[in-house]
Amino acid sequence: MTIDWRKEVEARREDLMKDLFDILSIPSVRDDSLATEDAPVGPGPKDALLRFLEIGDRDGFTTKNVDNIAGHIEFGSGDETLGVFGHVDVVPVGPGWDTDPFTPVEKDGRIYARGASDDKGPTMAAYYALKIIKELGLPVSKRTRVIIGTDEESEWKCMDHYLEVEETPDFGFSPDANFPIINGEKGNTTILLEVPGKNEGTLCLVSFKSGMRANMVPESAEAVVEVSGDVNEFEKEFEEYLTSVPVTGSIEVEGSNATIHVYGKAAHGAMPEKGINAATYLANFLSFYDFSGPAKDFVTIVADFIHEDTLGEKFGVAHTDETMGELTMNAGVFSYDMNRDDNTITLNFRYPKGLTEEDIYARITEKVSGTSAKVIQEAGGKGPHYVSPEDPLVKTLLDVYEEQTGFEGHEQVIGGGTFGRLLERGVAYGAMFPDSIDTMHQKNEFISVDDLINATVIYADAIYRLIK
Ligand code: ZN
Ligand code: ZN
Repeated sequence: MTIDWRKEVEARREDLMKDLFDILSIPSVRDDSLATEDAPVGPGPKDALLRFLEIGDRDGFTTKNVDNIAGHIEFGSGDETLGVFGHVDVVPVGPGWDTDPFTPVEKDGRIYARGASDDKGPTMAAYYALKIIKELGLPVSKRTRVIIGTDEESEWKCMDHYLEVEETPDFGFSPDANFPIINGEKGNTTILLEVPGKNEGTLCLVSFKSGMRANMVPESAEAVVEVSGDVNEFEKEFEEYLTSVPVTGSIEVEGSNATIHVYGKAAHGAMPEKGINAATYLANFLSFYDFSGPAKDFVTIVADFIHEDTLGEKFGVAHTDETMGELTMNAGVFSYDMNRDDNTITLNFRYPKGLTEEDIYARITEKVSGTSAKVIQEAGGKGPHYVSPEDPLVKTLLDVYEEQTGFEGHEQVIGGGTFGRLLERGVAYGAMFPDSIDTMHQKNEFISVDDLINATVIYADAIYRLIK
């Protein structure tokens, strides 16, 4: 039997849009200040979850609310379960919107609203896919659960809890990234190098500040240095330094204190090579001077092991896997204050299989062993995740993508993390197409109506092939 999935989706276009607008109208940003036992990440995400489950009830599915933090809409029965993992929480709105982020607007073939593409639109597309399979009365041999999370954008508390109390699906996908597929995600670990604020040299490092988040390349850096010698000479040397490096900067001198600013280029921490790390250039300049003690350690660790090296070669952690690519290192946050003892350099690593976070920790510890730096591994790291392209799940999803779009399907590995990694046989699949404009987490977020419809067609075909 051939099913015209596109015709079936088109027949439900209006309903799909109406339900999506309904969900998009609920401001579902996590808000810990309003969190209660009854609404663990605040009322917004909970309301969006309950509304989604109501839609499932209305359409005759079995639904389950798992303690107001996650839930599922279930269809079919069998020995195996397919899990489809979406989320209804959204990132904060931010400034600069042309329309109200929680009053969805359809304009020029696009639906504008916070969550339109991440991830309410794609989750609704996956839900409608299942609804079509149900309404057509198609025979299935497996159970499917559309599992809805409310804390994807922060800590994944939703899925931690869900998988604790509910059965773990045997295989599945998350409609929360890109087509053709994301079948590999690098491991992610963050390491802090902590040094006390102490100076013993001719120059005194008063402060050093740069970066906001471990997963962003710092765009600017600032240091205050007390120069006991010729401060004007120091100023001249900084200006000379600027002519030889790909950053800009400025220096102001007041008495014997020099305040230095350096400006590089921001980038996502998963692709640090695309940015220019302002902090490491600043430390590189300072490393030519006579600092001593922990202040010297702070500056020289950056200059010797981090500067112009996003692959971790100088730390001895560089590693490339044939299918998952190379390890990347982003030095995202720097803070030094001569009056504090908890000064830190924050390093975020994305690493392929063939390496563990313990390896990274051990090698860095060894490299800095002669210094005052203490190496601290942050809790909550995640190992590399990879599902072989030979796995029938990956094969089926790529086949459907190719047949429905006419484009070539191929495997993809990313540095970020999606719900795909929750299952050993889990991947991310859509809903952005290679030519879609990515507005996730940005102002004026949208999903194009064509993408929404095309994704629903693909999900329906794919889910049916996986469970029939
Ligand atoms: Zn998402
Ligand atoms: Zn997101």
